Amino acid sequence: MTLALPTDNPLCDFNALPDYAAVKPEHIEPALDALIRAAEQALEQVTAEATPPTWSAVVEPLERATEHLGRAWGVVGHLNAVADTPALRSAYNAMLPRVTEFWTRLGQNEGLLRQYQALHDSAGFSGLSATRQRIIDHALRDFRLSGALLEGPARSRYAEIQERLAALSQTFSEHVLDATAAHVEYVGEEETASIPADALQTAREAAERDGKPGYKFTLHYPSYMPVLQHGEHRPLRERLYRAYVTRASELGDPQYDNSAVMAEILALRDEEARLLGYANYAEVSLVPKMADTPEQVMHFLRDLASRARPFAQSDLDTLRAFAKDKLGMAQLEAWDIAWASEKLRQSHYALSEQEVRQYFTLPTVIAGLFRVIETLFGVKLRKVKGDIHAWHADVELYEIESAGGQSMGLFYLDLYVRDGKRSGAWMDHVRSRWLRCDGTLQTPVATLTCNFPSPVGGKPALLSHDDVQTLFHEFGHGLHHMLTQVDDIAVSGISGVEWDAVELPSQLMENFCWEWEVLRFLTRHVDSGEPMPRALFDKMLAAKNFQSGMQTLRQVEFSLLDMRLHHDLPTFTPAGIEALVEENRREVAVLQPPAFNRFVCSFSHIFAGGYAAGYYSYKWAEVLSADAYERFEEEGPLSPAVGKSYHQAILSVGGSRDAIDSFKAFRGREPRIDALLRHGGMTAQAA
Ligand SMILES: [Zn+2]
Repeated sequence: MTLALPTDNPLCDFNALPDYAAVKPEHIEPALDALIRAAEQALEQVTAEATPPTWSAVVEPLERATEHLGRAWGVVGHLNAVADTPALRSAYNAMLPRVTEFWTRLGQNEGLLRQYQALHDSAGFSGLSATRQRIIDHALRDFRLSGALLEGPARSRYAEIQERLAALSQTFSEHVLDATAAHVEYVGEEETASIPADALQTAREAAERDGKPGYKFTLHYPSYMPVLQHGEHRPLRERLYRAYVTRASELGDPQYDNSAVMAEILALRDEEARLLGYANYAEVSLVPKMADTPEQVMHFLRDLASRARPFAQSDLDTLRAFAKDKLGMAQLEAWDIAWASEKLRQSHYALSEQEVRQYFTLPTVIAGLFRVIETLFGVKLRKVKGDIHAWHADVELYEIESAGGQSMGLFYLDLYVRDGKRSGAWMDHVRSRWLRCDGTLQTPVATLTCNFPSPVGGKPALLSHDDVQTLFHEFGHGLHHMLTQVDDIAVSGISGVEWDAVELPSQLMENFCWEWEVLRFLTRHVDSGEPMPRALFDKMLAAKNFQSGMQTLRQVEFSLLDMRLHHDLPTFTPAGIEALVEENRREVAVLQPPAFNRFVCSFSHIFAGGYAAGYYSYKWAEVLSADAYERFEEEGPLSPAVGKSYHQAILSVGGSRDAIDSFKAFRGREPRIDALLRHGGMTAQAA
């Protein structure tokens, strides 16, 4: 017997793509309620005494039920991230503890653990494919990490911790979102000198919408950054900077203060680690990752810091000397750094980001990106026409087809910044590739979300070169998810890939934005329609590693801080956290920000985004991606042969084997750090 799901609820229809437009907050509880019950029933059935410990009797039915639950909850989570409203938020929050509780219970279920163990020990195990054996092995490891071996009070305490942590992460994230939205600057003409025209127009339209004169600036990145980088009016830069770096801290609006939230999150993670028999949370975090120990990671980061520091110091000395001599500023404040750096960049390289942006018209960038993907992987990308039932009118849907015309997957593209949408850019999966036992193949579907400035004045949106790299980055994740050829859902696409290797495909894609062969197809001047001239590209190349030493140290500082917060934080208090932030900064950074800087209070990656003791992954994977990309450099960046080899060795296999094995299959050897340093201009000759 299977439970009937509500038939008039869009969250319970799994035959087609989700009907995002039809989902209302009132659908959430009944749908999730029914799906949790269905999953519970499947769990009961597969753990019953009479059920034999086989793949088809245990793994498959449970995957079916939990996949539906995961997919529906994924839709709700996605809407919560891109179309936040008070009603949706409260429906999401009301359901969050129950969903979390179910996953926790599933991960700790003794009956299920017994079945997986029995399957592992059975004669049938050796008859399973290597991929399925790996899935079982990892499931057993995850049971252990989910507290399934715990008993008595430790067991219930563990469950309590999980529930509390889920709620705290949501609070952290809401505080950042609300604090970002809460600070608004309405300014007159006199404060807007040198702010780029498109940013100004957006600011003017935003003020008009509020019925105010002048311009409205906010802490959303596309509004904030142009002011910091270009605005001549120093007091406005200072006001925005202060508001930005004190977001969600004890120095901002108390109702959004994350200080105590962070302390509690870190204390609970530490307690969780001890319950599981580890010395700290960093150790737990690394068990399923490519890196072996916290010490290995910290050694890697400190090594990278020592190689980057001379370059960072020289970057800073150059900037200070320039500010003193050319800008008449003896003292550079934090809110002057981006502005002075932009002046220095223009003076040294005669390169203005504004000039560059005129060429990156969004439709051309998208067309150029698609061309790269089609050339390398022999696929076709086609826009889906008609009603796609998306969550906003700006969203588009595309289909990936193989050379033979077969559908390989679909992706939604949601490009523009708007209120109620979480900042940043990310790829998420709607569903994953899966060959079910009945022989039907489910193709993967992804969402790709960015926060680019919207088109204004009837002209296409203009991107910075950084934006273009962000877009390529997210497509790297998307391709990893969509070009997979793995049939088992647990390890198809990005599922089951080690966290610290998951950024390899994304970061690899960024490199294409630096190839002339690619770039000339990405550009078309907004007014003249001309592609970017080679001379301008050469200037961009010359400026490419501008301040790369400082930027590397900044990433190392965040990564090491994350590791240390989860490894050797002496006291779990706001003061303890702040002291470690300071100490870490003194060890790593060459540029000391003002004492009121509380960036850690909006460090969502580690407090709300799953990167806890894992932020180093970006740099770690960059070593892998730079080294892998070197093969594209050696054999031609748009070589279909290298594209095919990369697809086969890395993209297609997903999490079905260790990332190091996939890397070696593509590169023919162990990874080396040299390409990363060379790409960043941090080699002895460059000094
Ligand atoms: Zn990424």
